[in-house]
Amino acid sequence: MADVRKLVCQVAQRMANAALALGTAGNVSARLDDKTIAITPTGVPYDRLCEDDIVVVDIHTRRVVSGHLKPSSETPMHTEVYARRSDIHGIVHTHSLYATAFAVAGQSIEAVHYVIATMGDHIPVVPYFTYGTEALAQAAAEALQTVKVALLANHGVLALGKDLEEAYYHAEAVEYLAQLQYLAKGLGGPQVLTPSQIAEVMEKFQGYGQRG
Ligand SMILES: [Zn+2]
Repeated sequence: MADVRKLVCQVAQRMANAALALGTAGNVSARLDDKTIAITPTGVPYDRLCEDDIVVVDIHTRRVVSGHLKPSSETPMHTEVYARRSDIHGIVHTHSLYATAFAVAGQSIEAVHYVIATMGDHIPVVPYFTYGTEALAQAAAEALQTVKVALLANHGVLALGKDLEEAYYHAEAVEYLAQLQYLAKGLGGPQVLTPSQIAEVMEKFQGYGQRG
């Protein structure tokens, strides 16, 4: 458990250093077992965060199991996804600039680069609900049943992974796609890959476990 808490802390610091979230915004969690997760606390600047600050929360009751701080205000969004998806072991929530710009515009990120295939065949935009609410938790979990990244309207990004490293990679990859789509628009518009082209890449990823 100490190792998982340490990793959650390290990934949260990496997220802050990469400017994927401003101040104390954003949050990071990892599954400990079928019943519990380790999640970042609310309101602690990431440069001061240490593994002892990470909170352990019950996935089903959402109660704190151990830890001396209050868990992230977005805990319901994390626990709801873990409760519905046993294949997910890490979650990163960011407010990264370009991806959030698309979320603010209510526009989805398209298949502008084959790397999208690691996240799923599309990136849904979850309708706006106030942060930290049950309504947001339910809407986000609903949108993430078959894909691993969603935009949250007027809010940010929710990125899932088979482990926390993969969730972090997806948080970076969706920001990269958002930047690409934005830049390509200025060059006359991106040429979007077809569903069959994406399906072929997905098959390749599954076969080799590498992202090319
Ligand atoms: Zn947020």
